[in-house]
Amino acid sequence: MALFLIIASLFFLWIISLCKIFLLPRAPFTKHFTLNGRALRKRNVLLVIAHPDDESMFFTPTINFLTARGHNVQILCLSNGDADGKGNVRKQELFQACASLKVPMQQVKVVNHPDLQDGFGKVWNHSLLAKMIEEEIISHCIDMIITFDNYGVSGHCNHRDVHYGVCSKLLHDTSRRDIEVWELVSNNILRKYSGPIDIWLSMFWTMLPSSVTMQCLVNEHSRRSLIAMAQHKSQWVWFRKLFVILSSYTYMNTLRKIK
Ligand SMILES: [Zn+2]
Repeated sequence: MALFLIIASLFFLWIISLCKIFLLPRAPFTKHFTLNGRALRKRNVLLVIAHPDDESMFFTPTINFLTARGHNVQILCLSNGDADGKGNVRKQELFQACASLKVPMQQVKVVNHPDLQDGFGKVWNHSLLAKMIEEEIISHCIDMIITFDNYGVSGHCNHRDVHYGVCSKLLHDTSRRDIEVWELVSNNILRKYSGPIDIWLSMFWTMLPSSVTMQCLVNEHSRRSLIAMAQHKSQWVWFRKLFVILSSYTYMNTLRKIK
């Protein structure tokens, strides 16, 4: 009986949270991210990821938020995910996933560099990463970068290296001081797998007075996360299907402004 009550309560909370997420985009609380003194200008945003499928597993709330408002989204994927020898397949899957997220393949670049190969224990050179990101900034007049934080959501070393490539190298070693940079906040395991229920905590943390600017972006089209991830057919196994349903990153992204 107690177990039934717990499951029923969780189900009820899940539904209430989904309703909250559905209604939130109509609330005018996302002012920092799009306004920031530049209300009338469309932003050229570069999303920097490590592997094909990072965009669908972790960043769909952000991508949907930006494309729905007409911002120009470029995606730079710093490897083709060749850990299992499927690099070419995964590259095509990334293009299809991005198309389902309203980012055409012309706006997606996949890097295949011998020193930036997918895998645990493969250390990526931060200077090389910064150089490649810098090239994208110049060719697309980028004025905002979004990437992983220093834990990289899953703790994958490639995600973390991408963060350090942007934050330790690009921002400190170059003249790129005019660019706004945001990082995706990594949640603890309970929050990570609480699906839409995490909306209450995410909103609470972003509303607390702080010297750091935080922004909670809710996914206006949560179903697109599932559709996008399903394009990664080589990765679409049962535990990733479960991940997309249970992950709070399907329903919202908390971004922290680091510059
Ligand atoms: Zn990844």
